[in-house]
Amino acid sequence: MAHIGIVGAGLAGAGAAYALRDTDHDVTLLEKSRGVGGRAATRRRDDCRYDHGANYVKEGDGRTVDLLHELGDDGLVDAEEPVWTFDRDGAIEPSDREEAHKFTWTAGITQFAKRLLAETDAAVRKTTRAESVARDDAGAWTVTDTDGDEHGPFDALLLTPPAPQTADLLAATDWPGADGALAALHDAVADTEFRTIRTLVFHYDFALDVPWYAVVNTDKEHAVGWLAREECKDGHVPDGEGLLIAQMSPAWSVEHYDDPLESAAEAGADLVADLVGDDRLADPDWVDDQGWRYALPDEGLAADAEALASAREAGLFLAGDWVAGAARAHEALWNGVDAGDRIADRL
Ligand SMILES: Cc1cc2nc3c(=O)[nH]c(=O)nc-3n(C[C@H](O)[C@H](O)[C@H](O)COP(=O)(O)OP(=O)(O)OC[C@H]3O[C@@H](n4cnc5c(N)ncnc54)[C@H](O)[C@@H]3O)c2cc1C
Repeated sequence: MAHIGIVGAGLAGAGAAYALRDTDHDVTLLEKSRGVGGRAATRRRDDCRYDHGANYVKEGDGRTVDLLHELGDDGLVDAEEPVWTFDRDGAIEPSDREEAHKFTWTAGITQFAKRLLAETDAAVRKTTRAESVARDDAGAWTVTDTDGDEHGPFDALLLTPPAPQTADLLAATDWPGADGALAALHDAVADTEFRTIRTLVFHYDFALDVPWYAVVNTDKEHAVGWLAREECKDGHVPDGEGLLIAQMSPAWSVEHYDDPLESAAEAGADLVADLVGDDRLADPDWVDDQGWRYALPDEGLAADAEALASAREAGLFLAGDWVAGAARAHEALWNGVDAGDRIADRL
């Protein structure tokens, strides 16, 4: 039996653990947050549940739909209303793109990682932030967290945090004999850029009467990037109430990232009211937010193939949406599954 360490319990980490479920390897996930799911995140407030990171899982290439059903149909939600578009002037109109499935769960999108992990015997160590990594002479990996506790030794280690956070870990990695592979890997990971998004959440004591589930800004010139109605997801918002998720554009988000919630929400609600053409939306009865400094990768990892091969040979693996090169929940998941399969092959 081998020991495998996974840093990060988002969909890539959960996918890797899921891929390893039928092996007899011992799997441990180290997760800095209090819950699993990473950017596929859900919150509760009053009687509402809302997905404030990834809004839904796309069907991808079909195997995702099969997997979702395998994980259990109870509570699986497919938001049926369409996604419309708007431009820099805020002109909302139907999209000519074919509507795809938009999956989440009545209990929220965190169910995806939770259900994957429930199929495994993996140990999940929450509120455990990896700070440094070391490889010993026998080739085993150890992770030290910010409390100074050591985890491992691991025969293989998979890093899944967003590229800038993985670059920090690689900068704090002691890998004797790496012969330049570590530096090459670090530089390539550090070069993988992410966009920042500030998500604003607006709750209303009335439901909005519009034909769309969400509207997306297609020319990327509007301060609002995406606006979605959580009430279109069964079980998320009580009847007669409305809950909007506004993902602000990267430019707006960077400019207002550190603004207090009150002023950011006031400015955001004005923009939303203007966009939808409904003055009532400027006055939500409660608000919430989340800053995603590392929200979406701009591109995929462009690592030197030799450095990647050396790392794998030494038992060090990478996974995530930024490795896949696509900022999508299902892409992160399958990238993690592939990493899990590669680890199983190597051990
Ligand atoms: C606002 C927003 C909207 C989105 N909308 C959609 C959408 O509608 N549909 C869609 O398909 N995708 C969407 N995405 C993208 C999707 O959420 C991501 O592609 C996917 O969730 C990435 O999964 P991951 O496992 O690669 O990374 P993450 O989810 O980021 O997981 C990495 C994990 O590592 C943990 N971590 C980081 N550093 C450390 C450390 N040092 N020690 C321990 N743990 C650590 C983090 O806490 C996190 O749990 C959206 C993303 C955002 C931010």
